Amino acid sequence: MTVNIDPLVARMRGFGTTVFAEMTALAVRTGAINLGQGFPDTDGPAKLLETAVEAIRGGANQYPPGPGVPELREAVAAQRSGRYGLTYDPADEVLVTVGATEAIAATLLALCETGDEVVLFEPYYDSYAAIIALAGAVRRPVTLRPDGDRFTFDPAELRAAVTPHTRLILLNSPHNPTGTVFSRAELEIIADVCREHDLVAVTDEVYEYLTFDGAEHVPIATLPGMRERTVAISSAGKTFSVTGWKTGWITAPPHLVRAVQTVKQFLTFTCSAPYQRAVAYGLGAELDWVEAQRASLQSKRDRLTAGIQAAGLTPLRTQGTYFVQADVRPFGFTDGLEFCRVLHERAGVVAIPAQVFYDSDAGDPYVRFAFCKRDEVIADAAARLSRVAS
Ligand SMILES: *Cc1c(COP(=O)(O)O)cnc(C)c1O
Repeated sequence: MTVNIDPLVARMRGFGTTVFAEMTALAVRTGAINLGQGFPDTDGPAKLLETAVEAIRGGANQYPPGPGVPELREAVAAQRSGRYGLTYDPADEVLVTVGATEAIAATLLALCETGDEVVLFEPYYDSYAAIIALAGAVRRPVTLRPDGDRFTFDPAELRAAVTPHTRLILLNSPHNPTGTVFSRAELEIIADVCREHDLVAVTDEVYEYLTFDGAEHVPIATLPGMRERTVAISSAGKTFSVTGWKTGWITAPPHLVRAVQTVKQFLTFTCSAPYQRAVAYGLGAELDWVEAQRASLQSKRDRLTAGIQAAGLTPLRTQGTYFVQADVRPFGFTDGLEFCRVLHERAGVVAIPAQVFYDSDAGDPYVRFAFCKRDEVIADAAARLSRVAS
């Protein structure tokens, strides 16, 4: 093979380097506070961690069953039914995956033929575009735009994005990076389109517990006629502050689970046994910890949002997730990337330009800040931001 020819398959070119790496390097080099990366800097509940350690010491160290250990599949089914009234049979309607990331990958690879179209909302989580490309499918983004103080979509744009080639709608709520939690009315519109065009809904619900000010997370599978056409994806990472555990799952009717499992078994076959045991414990016993974590994130959001406002940026209202987006135009910038490249000098804080999550240029003036950091880090970042205005 000639060395000066890019060995990477054509469909993956353009996914090589990310602005996350650039911004993290910037934070490391300058000692700025890194609010670019969306992972917590504290651990999950102690007993959860201890359960994983005990599972390793207790011998849970060989391949677990392909679909996941029975305790976790049962715990996931109990969680969906207890919290949302959705009943799934742990035997054939729950599949454990290597994080939500593998769930998304296996689902799209299982359901999309080459050339099929995937409707998704931009800004979108970065793995979506790469997996759609890997599947040989085509993305049809519908832009979320500010409406008042939160982001939403135009139903006419959603309808216009659907063609005879559309296979599925991929949605994420609570939504990273905008912090929007889709309302029941917004979900009804998406559900209508799915039913009308016989589309599958694939929903990324990894922030299902992390909503603020009483915003309610409504799984689209709870709407009429949707359970049978929805693959719902969630994960332990965000819920329990264990993003390094990469333990996720799907819940779906048996024919969809079978399709996803057919792909999943050859990607990874199964997922780490000790973490599955621990997450099964967590879903049953640590939801009070999760609620305390949610409340604490809400106050971090408030604190950081106030700092962003004081800096002279316009923060949008975050109803859920780890993130708040801000409009940089009041600060005299039109481009979030340029803004991020100077923010670390002016404030000693690093953010992520939202344009990396868009196909269109609609995200150019926005930047994303993560607030899933220790209180003192958030207080310091907010103080640094407020000083740049003066
Ligand atoms: C963090 C995140 C994921 C990835 O979840 P893992 O369980 O770590 O694979 C997926 N989707 C969104 C929107 C996320 O923010």
